[in-house]
Amino acid sequence: MEYYRTYLTEEELPTHYYNLRADMEKKPAPLLNPRTMQPMTAEELEGVFCSELVKQELDNDTRFFEIPEEIRDYYKTFRPSPLVRAYNLEKALGTPAKIYFKFEGNNTSGSHKLNSAAAQAYYARKQGLKGVTTETGAGQWGTALSMACAYFGLDCKVYMVKTSYEQKPFRREVMRTYGAEVTASPSDTTEVGKKILAEFPGTGGSLGCAISEAVEAAVTREGYRYVLGSVLNQVLLHQSVIGLEAHKALEKLGVTPDIIIGCTGGGSNLGGLIAPFMGEKLRGEKDYRIIGAEPASCPSFTRGKYLYDFCDTGKVCPLAKMYTLGNGFMPSPIHAGGLRFHGMSTILSELYDQGLMEAVAYEQTEVFEAAEVFARAEGILPAPESSHAIKATIDEAMKCKESGEEKVILFGLSGTGYFDLVAYQQFNDGTMTDYIPTDEDLAKGLAFVPPQPEE
Ligand SMILES: *Cc1c(COP(=O)(O)O)cnc(C)c1O
Repeated sequence: MEYYRTYLTEEELPTHYYNLRADMEKKPAPLLNPRTMQPMTAEELEGVFCSELVKQELDNDTRFFEIPEEIRDYYKTFRPSPLVRAYNLEKALGTPAKIYFKFEGNNTSGSHKLNSAAAQAYYARKQGLKGVTTETGAGQWGTALSMACAYFGLDCKVYMVKTSYEQKPFRREVMRTYGAEVTASPSDTTEVGKKILAEFPGTGGSLGCAISEAVEAAVTREGYRYVLGSVLNQVLLHQSVIGLEAHKALEKLGVTPDIIIGCTGGGSNLGGLIAPFMGEKLRGEKDYRIIGAEPASCPSFTRGKYLYDFCDTGKVCPLAKMYTLGNGFMPSPIHAGGLRFHGMSTILSELYDQGLMEAVAYEQTEVFEAAEVFARAEGILPAPESSHAIKATIDEAMKCKESGEEKVILFGLSGTGYFDLVAYQQFNDGTMTDYIPTDEDLAKGLAFVPPQPEE
């Protein structure tokens, strides 16, 4: 009998981040300066981001980046994270599949986001900055960043999507407890916020709006830089600790996964989980099926277009080539659980375009049904975002039940759902509804995509 939980020791904590781009033959497309349509230079990016992070962002070739000891020391307060064999879920489903999950919800912020927040706060501090600004949607990233800023001694200003600010007062208070200043976005504290408010009065905001505000707040303040919790190459690099630990733990157990699954908002938890496995796949050493699970209400992979687009509504950020619903896409307000970003990591977008990974989209009611099955079997209350991965895992496990195949499935349980109880309440009351954007809605979002660079 195997263990339920496989823990690595602190000594086995990864010493280096793994840069998947180094093993990609066709690299992800570079960020472009929207004015010149030329690749963003380090100098241009350093006005917005910390220098060390700019280096990581632009480096497609260095395979490993050493994790500084200060970051590793902080990681030891919540890592290595457990790899769990979901025996009870397997039993509940009656599947011959073997299901493992890597659990990233074991810290106060409740998600994997602290892995990158720790690195970004550390590099900002090392550069001698006073503080950082950021956006947060559902609140996990803002919480993670405020924890990391408290630890490394940095000021932290968070622009929180207004609907979440109002619906999730508890998240807001956690951030304030760690010392962050939290502003509902769009706000009248920035020029771009005022413009968005004038154009869409009464809007509940979006991640795209909040990003524009946070960037403006950083570039107009001495000693501040902007940090982003997903999508960027540097974030996927930091999140590779998830995959490196999972790979090592599975190796100890002598287990090789057939299928690897994660939910995808901007792509960071899936990108981190699959990194070493995808590396093996790209080098022709092993093969895995890799599946990204996204909401049908914000279906970047399954219904988006692979185009250069802005990451933000205010169009102050560089252009990224990604699967996008268009920077004008406003996700439905009835959609409860995260994963509301219109675009996707350029790394995952390129891998998806090359057919190296798949994607599936689910409606929120079926996602919460999967969350309920998982919670009752395994005891952990999953984040709605993570529950997309649970839903995809259950679907694959049920296919195994039909075919009798004993496949090994590894999925990323990116976080816990303790701050998402309003959504759980809707689900429990039977008042949760599903919304799938029409082709017309999608056309509207894509209408704001800028002219594409010449090939
Ligand atoms: C933010 C978040 C996500 C989505 O972001 P990715 O960058 O796609 O990982 C998924 N799960 C949880 C718990 C989150 O907090």
